[in-house]
Amino acid sequence: MDACTFNAFLNQIADFSSVQCARMLSVLTSRVANARIADILQAAVAAKLSCPRCEGKDLYRHGEANGLQRFRCRACGRTFNCLTGTPLARLRLKDKWLDYAQCILESHAVRKAARLLDVDKNTTMRWRHRFLANTKADRPVSLHGIVEADETFLLESKKGSRKLGRPARKRGGKAAKRGISREQVCILVTRDRTGGTCDFVTGNGPVTTAQLLKHLPPILASDTLLVTDANAAYRAFAKKTGMAHAFVNLHAGIRVAEHARGAIHVQNVNSYHSRFHAWLRHFRGVATRYLPNYLGWRWAIDQQRIHSSETLLRAAIGVFHS
Ligand SMILES: [Zn+2]
Repeated sequence: MDACTFNAFLNQIADFSSVQCARMLSVLTSRVANARIADILQAAVAAKLSCPRCEGKDLYRHGEANGLQRFRCRACGRTFNCLTGTPLARLRLKDKWLDYAQCILESHAVRKAARLLDVDKNTTMRWRHRFLANTKADRPVSLHGIVEADETFLLESKKGSRKLGRPARKRGGKAAKRGISREQVCILVTRDRTGGTCDFVTGNGPVTTAQLLKHLPPILASDTLLVTDANAAYRAFAKKTGMAHAFVNLHAGIRVAEHARGAIHVQNVNSYHSRFHAWLRHFRGVATRYLPNYLGWRWAIDQQRIHSSETLLRAAIGVFHS
C-alpha cells in the first residue's frame, strides 16, 4: 500500500465505531504477534538451515506462506519453511504460540491455558505435547563426578487410552497392592553436583540391573562416583561395569556417609523427586505414556533453566542455547 492510500485509510479510523476499533486492534495484534514469532523462529534456524529431505544447503527463496519464508532446495526441489519437520509444523494459530509458551513456563493446566488464550482445550492439550516433544530432549550429554541415582514411582495411568485392561480408577487412585508393584511405574533420576539431571522411565515395578545397564553407561562420564541407596540392583550394576560406587544405607538410618571424594548422600536427587511430585499434583493425574514429556518439562523449568517464552519457543523446534 502506498503512503498516500495508507494516510487516507488512517484518516477514516476516526469514523470507526468502538466495536470496529476493537476488531481492528485484534487483527493488528495478531499480525504483529505472527510477525514477531516468525522472526524468532526464522532467526533461530537461519544459521543451520538445510533441506529436510536431502540436507542440501544450496537453497533459494521461494515465496511466503502463513507469514513464513519458503525455500526450495536446488538439489532435490523440495520446498520447506523453518517449521518443516518440527513438531510445530502445520499447527495453527501461530500468533498465540508465544503466549502459550508462557503458559508452559507457568505450568498452567490445559483448561486454564485454553481460557487465557481463548482457544479450545483440545488445542492446548495438543500444543502441550507438541511444544514439549523437543524441549524434553535438552539434557546434559553426560553427568560427571559424584552422581546420585535413585528411583521414584508413580501409579501407572492409562488416562486417555482406549483399552484399559482393568477397572477404571477414580482420579489419582490408589494401588491395590502395598509397596512397589507392577502397578507402579519406575522413574530413575540421576543428578550430578552441578545440577545436571537425566531421567528414565524404566518400566513397571522396581528397577532392574538390566535396566541400569541399558540407561546409565551412555550418560555417566568415566570419572563418575555413582552414589545410591543400598538397592542390590545398583551394586550388581557397579560390579558388572566396574564403575566406582558408594551407597548410603537408608534403612539403617544412615543418610550421609563419608567417602574419600567427600560426603555422599542421595538428598539432591530426592529433593528433585519431591519437586517433581509436588509440581505434578496440580495436573491431576498424567498418562504414563506422556511421562517423559512431563519429566522434560519439569527439568526445563527447574531452577528456571528455560526462563523466557522465546527460549521455550526455540526449544520447541529443537534449537537450544542460542
Ligand atoms: Zn533437498
